[in-house]
Amino acid sequence: MRDAAAARIGYYRELGIHDFYRREVPEDGTLDEALTAVEELPEVAAAVAVDTADHAAALQAIRDDLGDCTRCPLHTMGRKQIVFGTGNPYCELMFVGEAPGADEDQQGEPFVGRAGQLLNNMIVAMGLKREDVYIANVIKCRPPGNRTPQPDECAVCSPFLWRQIEVIQPKVLVALGAVAARTLLGVNESMSALRGRWFQCRGVDLAVTYHPAYLLRNPPAKKDAWQDLQMVMKKMGLQAPRK
Ligand code: URA
Repeated sequence: MRDAAAARIGYYRELGIHDFYRREVPEDGTLDEALTAVEELPEVAAAVAVDTADHAAALQAIRDDLGDCTRCPLHTMGRKQIVFGTGNPYCELMFVGEAPGADEDQQGEPFVGRAGQLLNNMIVAMGLKREDVYIANVIKCRPPGNRTPQPDECAVCSPFLWRQIEVIQPKVLVALGAVAARTLLGVNESMSALRGRWFQCRGVDLAVTYHPAYLLRNPPAKKDAWQDLQMVMKKMGLQAPRK
């Protein structure tokens, strides 16, 4: 059974499909039932069919696969809508946050509340506009009371983020805060260990900075965040606009 599963996964890898979703299979189910459950997944079908050169269409296909998602319990915990991501599908710079908050849940777009206003200011300080970049979160549904996403929620939802990154292929990814950084890098390090250096994530250069919500609570950390953004600007050949 192990060999057959490995062979099937190898086959999907050759097709360029790297992320799989677990679906409940009865304890006494056969391997074929388990593999059929995988094959039936719309994510797999769409990932094969979609032309990834058309970034907008490929992102739409991922959104369609997400559907009215019930893969984790967050759909029963008061979410109003799924917050998929927004911005330029051909951008060079992609920001990844943690999870939608109340404003995002209401409006269906990431980073539209106070933290979003600060993120907009950070983007403008880099000489860019919000429409130039792409913004997404690790998880697409608001956790109750804005609590930190749980590891199993990140695990279930992050394959959609991987697919967004693979379609967009930005030059640089910026992880906003520890949840995004740890999920993207698969590590459990502190922010101080993660900031101020470059990582690779799925072939993309990745930098870590503070989450804008943290910066709102700790304004003195803004100067450190600006250093992180300057590191990103240097890599991207960006100049800060003149005051
Ligand atoms: N915080 C996040 O991490 N993401 C959002 O979209 C809003 C606030």
